[in-house]
Amino acid sequence: MQYFSLNHKAPNVSFREAVLHGLAADKGLYFPSEITPLPKTFFDTIEEKDTTSIAFEAIKQFVGADIPKEALQQIVNETLSFDFPLVKIEDNVAALELFHGPTLAFKDVGARFMARCLGYFNQNNEEKITVLVATSGDTGGAVANGFFKVPGVEVVILYPKGKVSEIQEKQLTTYGENITAIEVDGVFDDCQAMVKEAFLDKDFEGKRKLTSANSINVARWIPQMFYYFLVYKKLKNLDQKLIFSVPSGNYGNICAGMLAQKLGLPIHHFVAGTNANDIVPAYLQSGKYITKPSVATISNAMDVGAPSNFIRIEALHNNSFKTLSENLSGYSFTDDETREAMKSLYERHNYIADPHGAVGYLALKEYLKEHPNKLGIFLETAHPVKFLDVIPKKLVARIEMPESIKQILQKKKKAETILTYSQLKSKLLLN
Ligand SMILES: *Cc1c(COP(=O)(O)O)cnc(C)c1O
Repeated sequence: MQYFSLNHKAPNVSFREAVLHGLAADKGLYFPSEITPLPKTFFDTIEEKDTTSIAFEAIKQFVGADIPKEALQQIVNETLSFDFPLVKIEDNVAALELFHGPTLAFKDVGARFMARCLGYFNQNNEEKITVLVATSGDTGGAVANGFFKVPGVEVVILYPKGKVSEIQEKQLTTYGENITAIEVDGVFDDCQAMVKEAFLDKDFEGKRKLTSANSINVARWIPQMFYYFLVYKKLKNLDQKLIFSVPSGNYGNICAGMLAQKLGLPIHHFVAGTNANDIVPAYLQSGKYITKPSVATISNAMDVGAPSNFIRIEALHNNSFKTLSENLSGYSFTDDETREAMKSLYERHNYIADPHGAVGYLALKEYLKEHPNKLGIFLETAHPVKFLDVIPKKLVARIEMPESIKQILQKKKKAETILTYSQLKSKLLLN
């Protein structure tokens, strides 16, 4: 499998190169040069297959010969070592809970897969590789956990100071060893800009091998399609058209669903839910794509003003606005609406959603108003316990604290604060 740069000014590379480099030399995101739909028999017999073989079949063409079959199957097995329950909320609404992994967010899937691929590729290399990652909340914890103690891999995590929840902060600042956390005095976009600048900085050549672990990395992005297949396996017999509503920030998660759709998974329509960072819903309305500085909201993992994966979404729709707008709807919600949704989900359905899941729920309901008789799944992307500081008080008392979180809260935060790219650079060049 070859990957090309969506900026079209860098050579094609294999899966291995794409994972090791993260971003192409021309700043473009890598994209598979071919996407071959899975055979009809795969879908006809999906209910007979187990989770890990479904995932293996789905991803093998994207890895190609770079990881042998047995090793790839092993990586997939370890990636999917937790459950993805589908919880019925209303007659035609269900939540797909993606938060049963080690850091209680869907990002565990991509981070675990990528960490294991990198570990595989780097197993005989003397030279260390540094994963440099910006997080608006959940990426950091998932990456720290996924990469902790992976031999030959150093991890440097940048996060916006004061803009992640206490639990999120603990999940990324308490590991130590090969994991370094850096607080940036700014917003997520500043962190992301620093990461991008570092990747293009020639001064690291021969000194530090850098790669990304954001969803710009194909090994983070692509495995996120697994759980869409698992939903289909569960609901296939209902014979209803599936709608997926995805709370979106960098649009990696929803874009992985669209990749699954390209492979032949019968998904009828996608809905993107956003907070005030409404770049994509605004685009679907106006046809104009205008990025903006991000604004802080209570669903902070979606505080993204320039969604990096949107260009992949366009590529998956042949860069046609018409094709895209037939497959994707988008809605944006205020923090007050999100809080109201959390309350009503609890009062009416006895379900506690986190702020991101609540945005997904709201977006789905909005879509179903116009398209009743469809079955809608919203992705519940994180455990509510990660957002206690923004969840309505009376719900907080009902949230059970998982054991892993109790432990992490007692650990001590270790992070350094920086303001500028040059501070980051000298840090990376020093040690
Ligand atoms: C990262 C994240 C999102 C946004 O996912 P994207 O792939 O960036 O669109 C949504 N919810 C939670 C809880 C997240 O951590």
